[in-house]
Amino acid sequence: MTPEAVTAIGKRAEAMLDALALISADPGRLTRLYLTEEHRRAARLVAEWMRSAGLKVRMDAAGTVHGLLPAAGDGPLAGKRLLVGSHIDTVVDAGRYDGTFGVVAGILAVEELRRRSVALPFGLEVLAFGDEEGVRFPKTLIGSSVVAGALRDPMLDLTDAEGVTIRAALAAFGGDPDALDAEAYRPEDTLGYVEAHIEQGPVLERLGLPLGVVTSIAGQARFRIIVKGEAGHAGTVPMAIRRDALTAAAEMILAIEAIGMIFDIGHAGEEVARTAIVATVGEVKVLPGAGNVIPGEVRFSLDLRAAEDAVRVGAEAEIRQRIGEIAARRNVDAVVETVHEKPVATCAPAMVGRIGTAIGRVTGGEAHRMMSGAGHDGQAMCHLGPIGMIFVRCRGGISHNPAEYASPEDMGLAVVALVETIIATSG
Ligand SMILES: [Zn+2]
Repeated sequence: MTPEAVTAIGKRAEAMLDALALISADPGRLTRLYLTEEHRRAARLVAEWMRSAGLKVRMDAAGTVHGLLPAAGDGPLAGKRLLVGSHIDTVVDAGRYDGTFGVVAGILAVEELRRRSVALPFGLEVLAFGDEEGVRFPKTLIGSSVVAGALRDPMLDLTDAEGVTIRAALAAFGGDPDALDAEAYRPEDTLGYVEAHIEQGPVLERLGLPLGVVTSIAGQARFRIIVKGEAGHAGTVPMAIRRDALTAAAEMILAIEAIGMIFDIGHAGEEVARTAIVATVGEVKVLPGAGNVIPGEVRFSLDLRAAEDAVRVGAEAEIRQRIGEIAARRNVDAVVETVHEKPVATCAPAMVGRIGTAIGRVTGGEAHRMMSGAGHDGQAMCHLGPIGMIFVRCRGGISHNPAEYASPEDMGLAVVALVETIIATSG
């Protein structure tokens, strides 16, 4: 393909992303949460595009839009499907590329396959999941977990900020909370799942590369740490005998940072990335929270991610030990509670190989192999079959922000790499 033809595809992607970005709960900024009116409108638009691309469209019980290109002929692979896609929900005040690009890329890949008159011996299905971000309900990856048959505990009684349960929201959306199990695909019918997604980090831009191939999605654990000291009068309690929960928490947070600094994902080549961890404290609550009172209690969050579960678990143990030491020395109590834990999702070597070859073909250079520090639908889909991801360079590495941007040139290359990956799956 000529560079102009590739960029023309990228420009189509841009126009579709612009159209989706107009579907928002808030005027002037993009916010589209799971099972809302905006989600419904976005799902309808995606379904329309899928139909025009010649796909058979349906919405499943969890609100995921499925567009199927049936297999050509009735060869041995005819009963199997290769799945491609991503999510159409967003964070609050989001960018327009996160998730939606993977859905649009799937539809454009179908169009390109038809333009080339490629007859796939297997079914190709484009999926638009509704809830990757987990903003409305305290649960992520519902749509992909349903398709993957990995929704062990649906927790349908979890509520949003208005007290609406997932169960009620699903029913109102036209989904079916009681039919989620029946939507699961069978591993023996699935050839795998491929997702194109913006990188959401700065590595490809720093390397001057439009695309990269993901080798794994980082494992992640979230914790809540509660430090209890003793509140007291800021004027009368001598410094030496205070049990200040905030100064203790401050020392703990710096210790966490030091453990995280041992490795640095941002600059990592693959060798380093394999053992890298990132540790983030993003939320701190001080009680009672008055300027003239010694803090009696502090609660803070910890987000810990690594490319290997053993490394993350090791870092967690080290952090727990340091927190215990600091608490003992400062005469405060500290409890570390695990809020949630998701293991590393490893991309299938065969899939990484096919995507790497495809990227090499469309960019003329060797594909950069990288870890994803962000979570993705692939973390659920890996329960169903082999997963692979194509990362697209994004400006400044900025994501979850209206300044998010990927160029039509890079997006066009990603769609063509996806097409080449799909075709290579037949061989
Ligand atoms: Zn995403």
